[in-house]
Amino acid sequence: MNNRQDNQRSVPGITHLIAIASNKGGVGKSTISTNLSVALHKIENKVGVLDADITGPNIPRMMGISPGSLASEGEGLRPVEAHGIQAVSLGLVLPPDTPVVWRGPMIASGLKQMLFDVQWSELDYLVIDLPPGTSDVSMTLAQDVMLSGVVIATTPQEVSLEDARKAVAMFDKLGVPILGLIENMSSEIFGIGGGKNAADDLGLDYLGSIPLDKDIRVGSDTGVPLVAQNPKHPASITYIEIAQAIHEKCLMIKNETSSFLKRELT
Ligand code: ADP
Repeated sequence: MNNRQDNQRSVPGITHLIAIASNKGGVGKSTISTNLSVALHKIENKVGVLDADITGPNIPRMMGISPGSLASEGEGLRPVEAHGIQAVSLGLVLPPDTPVVWRGPMIASGLKQMLFDVQWSELDYLVIDLPPGTSDVSMTLAQDVMLSGVVIATTPQEVSLEDARKAVAMFDKLGVPILGLIENMSSEIFGIGGGKNAADDLGLDYLGSIPLDKDIRVGSDTGVPLVAQNPKHPASITYIEIAQAIHEKCLMIKNETSSFLKRELT
C-alpha cells in the first residue's frame, strides 16, 4: 500500500474500486464485469458498475439498459439501476452507433466525470470495466484514482496469456495491487488451465475459471447476466466464489491500509 501516490483520489461514498482489465478485446471483460457485479451483490454488497470501455461501451446492453436512460435532472447524472446494480456508461449518454473518437486528455476527463460527477449512492464496490490494452483510461485510473486493485481477465490460449502478461506488467509498474487472474472461456476449443499456469508463473492469485457456455453469451445478449438469471447455474456458482475471494482480499487490503495510515499518523 505504501507505494501509493499522495495525489490519488478516492470516490466519496464508495469503499472499494476494482477494475477489470485485459490486454486484448473479446476475452470477456465486460461479461465478467457484469456477472461479477451481480455476484458481489448476491453476497450482500451494494454494487455499481462503471463502463469505462469508452471505445466500445457494451455494459448497457449486457445489463438490459436502454440508451438515453441516464437521468440528469438538474443535480447531475444519476446511475441507472438494473439487477440491483447501479450502472453508468458512456453508452448511456451517447446515441447508439456513435463512434467515440476521443483524444487522450478528453478521455481522461470523461473518465473522471463518470467517477466524480455522477451521483453514486453509497457503494461497497464499484466495478470498472476498462478498455483493452494500456490505454489512457487505464493509465489515468491507475495513476490518479485510489483503486483497491485490478482483476486480470484472460482466455486460456497462449496468445491471450502473452497479452495478459503485458497488462500485469503495466499495473505492477504503476503500483496497483493485482487481486488475481480469471480464466474465461475455458473449453476444449480454447484450452483449459492456461490461466492457472499463467497466474502461477506471474505470482498472481488464480481466482477461478469460467467455462465457455452458451448461457453466459445469451445472458449478455439479452441484458440479464447469467448470475442474475440463474444463480444456481454452475458458472454462476463459480462467479459467486470468485466474488467471495475478491471480497475477502479487498477487506484485507482495507485493513492493511488503515493500519498503515494509523502507523504513519502516530
Ligand atoms: P470484452 O469486454 O473483453 O471485449 P465481452 O465481454 O464483450 O468481451 O465478450 C465478447 C463476447 O463473448 C460476447 O458476445 C460475450 O457474450 C461472449 N462471452 C464472454 N464470456 C463468455 C463465456 N464464458 N461463454 C460464452 N460466451 C462468452
